[in-house]
Amino acid sequence: MLLSLVVPFYNEEDTVDHLFSRVVPVLESLDGLDYEIVCVDDGSRDATLGKLQIERRRFGKVKLVELSRNFGKESALTAGLDESNGDVIVPFDADLQDPPEVIPRLVEKWRQGYDVVLAQRVDRNTDTFAKRKTAAMFYRVHNALAPQHIPENVGDFRLFTREVLEALKLLPERQRFMKGLFAWVGFRSTVVEYVRDARIAGRTKFSGWKLWNFALEGFTSFSTLPLRVWTYVGSTVAAFAVLYGAFIVVRTLLKGNAVPGYASLASIILFLGGIQLIGIGVIGEYLGRVYFETKHRPIYLVRRRYDPIEALAQQSYTAAPDTADAAARWTGKPRPATT
Ligand code: UDP
Ligand code: MG
Repeated sequence: MLLSLVVPFYNEEDTVDHLFSRVVPVLESLDGLDYEIVCVDDGSRDATLGKLQIERRRFGKVKLVELSRNFGKESALTAGLDESNGDVIVPFDADLQDPPEVIPRLVEKWRQGYDVVLAQRVDRNTDTFAKRKTAAMFYRVHNALAPQHIPENVGDFRLFTREVLEALKLLPERQRFMKGLFAWVGFRSTVVEYVRDARIAGRTKFSGWKLWNFALEGFTSFSTLPLRVWTYVGSTVAAFAVLYGAFIVVRTLLKGNAVPGYASLASIILFLGGIQLIGIGVIGEYLGRVYFETKHRPIYLVRRRYDPIEALAQQSYTAAPDTADAAARWTGKPRPATT
């Protein structure tokens, strides 16, 4: 049995060393379970790739996928999942916010027969107050809108079986809101609780604006309620308009036509204009996504793949120009001629 640890990296040069020195002993300690570490370099502009090459030589069992540019975490994770061969798969953040020591507990639950083992944060004290509040609000809104609930305070850190991964691959969408996709495929799942640490080094890649758009992605991917609600908003406003219209007619008949009414007229027009624009905006959110889905662009592009060194050592050196290139880049020496 093989466990694939899938790690996306984007400008993580300061965390790479920490990550491997902490993760490898844990993976080595797993009884009866071999492992591979699938690293995805998501178009990093710092020394991340070079550092990953070093770790790959040091530890072996490391598969490296270099994307052609930065595609974002969800796409990078998708790339890693596509490359992994494991019977069980564990997505993992590079910044060690999720302690690798939890992995044996996930494996234990899987051995008890679960397909998905979610790691749930019991305490988010390492997050800022604002982040905790907005996260709580996101889960509340999402779960009110979407038919498949996503469990609260569960990130991408989890363990799942190959069957689940194959099911996930059947979902063809380009906008990959992973948490939601996982919830959608279902399977037998359970939860393991843990405490999330602060980042070991480096900075978070998710600003408030990015998170807001991420939340929109979640809402629009799994619910059309925001679209449909306008039927009801419109009907309610129209019903009030009819009542108000009748009121004006009756009043005019009884009391004659009093000209004043400019203020109420202006506010009604502005109010309705605003409502209509919001409705159009919501349609726009969906239409924009439909537009991109219909383009069928690939979710990510791979610049180069580096297989685990151990596997390649059995082949001839010239048969694997990839490794030669990698080694050249790593040592700074020119690449040996491959004839
Ligand atoms: N990440 C990525 N591509 C991106 C942004 C982030 O591969 O465009 C990776 C990042 O290197 C890390 C993981 O996604 O391994 C989680 O990112 P981060 O820790 O910044 O997110 P946070 O924990 O703050 O939500
Ligand atoms: Mg993080």
